[in-house]
Amino acid sequence: RPRVLSGIQPTAGSFHLGNYLGAVRQWVALQESHDAFYMVVDLHAITIPQDPADLRANTRLAAAQLLAAGLDPDRCTLFVQSHVPEHAQLAWIMNCLTGFGEASRMTQFKDKSAKQGADRASVGLFTYPILQVADILLYQANEVPVGEDQRQHVELTRDLAVRFNGRYGDTFTIPKPYILKETAKIYDLQDPSVKMSKSASTPKGLINLLDEPKTTAKKVKSAVTDTDTVIRYDVENKPGVSNLLTIYSTLTGRSVEELEADYEGKMYGALKTDLADVMVDFVSPFRERTQQYLDDPETLDSVLAKGAEKARAVAAETLAQTYERVGFLPAK
Ligand code: ATP
Ligand code: MG
Repeated sequence: RPRVLSGIQPTAGSFHLGNYLGAVRQWVALQESHDAFYMVVDLHAITIPQDPADLRANTRLAAAQLLAAGLDPDRCTLFVQSHVPEHAQLAWIMNCLTGFGEASRMTQFKDKSAKQGADRASVGLFTYPILQVADILLYQANEVPVGEDQRQHVELTRDLAVRFNGRYGDTFTIPKPYILKETAKIYDLQDPSVKMSKSASTPKGLINLLDEPKTTAKKVKSAVTDTDTVIRYDVENKPGVSNLLTIYSTLTGRSVEELEADYEGKMYGALKTDLADVMVDFVSPFRERTQQYLDDPETLDSVLAKGAEKARAVAAETLAQTYERVGFLPAK
């Protein structure tokens, strides 16, 4: 079975619709066909200051949401990144293999540091794409299911894997991004020119899966569209409507063409009202299942402990081989 690896940050508490449609939904599907490793990336979370108690709670909350979304610990390996120390260890080697200019070209860093003020951004935020390289290479992943915003980091991973293999001999599998075109980028409902994001969205434009369903319905109904009246998929001219159609189509399994035909001659209000119902039907059971996992922290922690053990077995082997290739003297 080919292997997949991906991760999600335990920041902001609730996952948002972009996380689910862009990434987690694919993770659930891929556990059927792939040897799948999924993690809550707490090391990545601290690239931006986190309150320790919140970070701990949000890490459990992220794991609970992944289970609620349909990850099955019998069919995938679910773990917390900091439970596997090899991530930080391999990241150092990858840091030493990356050019400063190469790292400077990462657009996610530019976006995120601009938001904080470039002087306040940590060195960790600057090098987080390189930690991501280590995350992926440690598991010899063939594919990396992520949203469009992560494509550049998977490219960096490929470059560094090729570079390492060329310099030290074949060590790492060269991974490919696994990005579904339709859901690669879900947009902010209030500003359909920017991606929905945990850290950057406006509260009204961000669909949190754990919000009160009433709040979610309200946000859908007040989504920004355009001054035209036609319900048609056209990303360039009608980004707001197109975003709603993408969400609607993915959550119901009905094609965009079918939806366009159904809503011909209808008003935006009708589309939004129906989509609000679809959303509520999706988030209500998701919230309940998340709460059930949270109510049983012992089971949750034991899932994560078993996951970490399985992950470490793979990660330790790759790291040992890497250390050897680099020329580190083995500890006797
Ligand atoms: P932040 O803004 O703090 O980076 P985030 O909203 O991007 O948070 P992450 O935990 O960084 O959330 O991302 C988890 C996964 O969700 C990644 O694979 C990412 O590509 C994907 N993702 C995030 N936002 C979207 C979006 N708007 N559309 C599609 N996929 C997304
Ligand atoms: Mg992100």
